[in-house]
Amino acid sequence: MERIIKDLEFSARRLEPDIIERKKLLGKVIGYCQEFLNDLPNLPSYHFTEDKGRDINNWPIVDEPGEIDNLLNLIKTNVDSPGLNPASGRHLGYIPGGGIFHSALGDFMADITNRYAGVFFASPGAVRMENMLTNWMASIVGYPETAGGNLTSGGSIANLIGIVTARDAHSIKARDIEKTVVYMTAQAHHSIDKALRIGGLNECIRRLIPLDNSFRMKPEELERAIIKDRNSGLNPWLIVASAGTTDVGAVDPIVEIGQISRKHNLWLHLDAAYGGFFILCPSGKEVLKGLDKSDTIIMDPHKSLFLPYGSGAIIVKDKLKLLESHHYSANYMQDTEASREEFAPGDLSPELSKHFRGLRLWLPLKLLGLRPFRDALEEKIQLSRYFYREISKLSGFELGPFPELSVVTFRYKPKSGDINKFNKALLNEIQKGERVFISSTKLKNKFTLRLAVVSFRTHLDTIDELIEILKEKVAFLTK
Ligand SMILES: *Cc1c(COP(=O)(O)O)cnc(C)c1O
Repeated sequence: MERIIKDLEFSARRLEPDIIERKKLLGKVIGYCQEFLNDLPNLPSYHFTEDKGRDINNWPIVDEPGEIDNLLNLIKTNVDSPGLNPASGRHLGYIPGGGIFHSALGDFMADITNRYAGVFFASPGAVRMENMLTNWMASIVGYPETAGGNLTSGGSIANLIGIVTARDAHSIKARDIEKTVVYMTAQAHHSIDKALRIGGLNECIRRLIPLDNSFRMKPEELERAIIKDRNSGLNPWLIVASAGTTDVGAVDPIVEIGQISRKHNLWLHLDAAYGGFFILCPSGKEVLKGLDKSDTIIMDPHKSLFLPYGSGAIIVKDKLKLLESHHYSANYMQDTEASREEFAPGDLSPELSKHFRGLRLWLPLKLLGLRPFRDALEEKIQLSRYFYREISKLSGFELGPFPELSVVTFRYKPKSGDINKFNKALLNEIQKGERVFISSTKLKNKFTLRLAVVSFRTHLDTIDELIEILKEKVAFLTK
């Protein structure tokens, strides 16, 4: 028996590389990453390929070991080449993500040390670090000391946690759902609808409040709808407002909406997944007034704090409401309860065992300090306003609302022909060029181009390049 065990041990020990093997693998992987970063300024922002990474399927998971050089090659050609390149500063579509280097170091450390950040007893320091980060977010939003939150994998999960918390805080039970009303706008992110559905609330009534000319919720219409619903025996429950919509970057009038929510006793959930961290810079602070009037707010460090994907956050003004919706107990967890000094992600979210995602946020913030984040955010706003100004100087372009944050919508009006078709062709030409990537949307049923400046790698030269490409492609399509 011992011989069998020893044989198994010999094979199992392959899971623990020695220092020589570690050095070799680190050298290869770091070499790959360094080359990627060196090449990045010249890599396409979107790469169209025939095979779309299909070759990955020709390398099934088998018993035998692989060779690191081959595997890095497979990743390079099948994963890091086809499709969108979110690491590129020339990615200006949708809401670009980040990917700061220092976060990767935090992730690497978190993976090596593998601290258990779900439970206070298991890793009090890791839990304190994550709580300290959510408390910091609560403070920049202007929430009181009662606030707390959770670092999530992204905004969609954060919205789900927020909506479930709001549901329980207002004691919405299955029998109440059909009479329960949610107020939002047509510009609300689709993850709100998804969260309502996953949260068992799909049968509730959704009131889409009319928008002003800049795609912001009209507060007087909101109040009118609430009063009307209450008078007809319905249960007005939740207002979902946006602090930076995905489509146009619009910020709803949060101060007024906050007053209405308090006056009529509704829960106010703020979706600031994209816009939230702009509060850190002067122009953003001017636009994002009244965030503290909400009951819950979500913000994505993987958007406006330039982190790699996998970082969202939910902050709740009254931490206990978050706890009431998510705490648990189990016999096999009994010895973790006694020494608890702080609530942990296991108490405050649907998760238990989880990635220690605090470190990827804490390390860059501490290493770099807040200053470069503040300045990069202000730079993004100024870049989008610069683009807005430069495009308005060109003849033939029609612009959407002035960018309060960092999204600009626009389209070209050719002298003749179908405007929608022209802009679709223009977008196609720009994307096919692979140099800069912008995306499109439909506003008031019109095909509209949009630019979102969110990447920390986007600077003035990229915006100038985009303007040149726009001029060139318009000239090409109108000749
Ligand atoms: C991106 C976004 C979301 C969803 O966040 P994910 O991190 O992609 O899950 C929600 N709301 C808004 C306004 C967004 O821009």
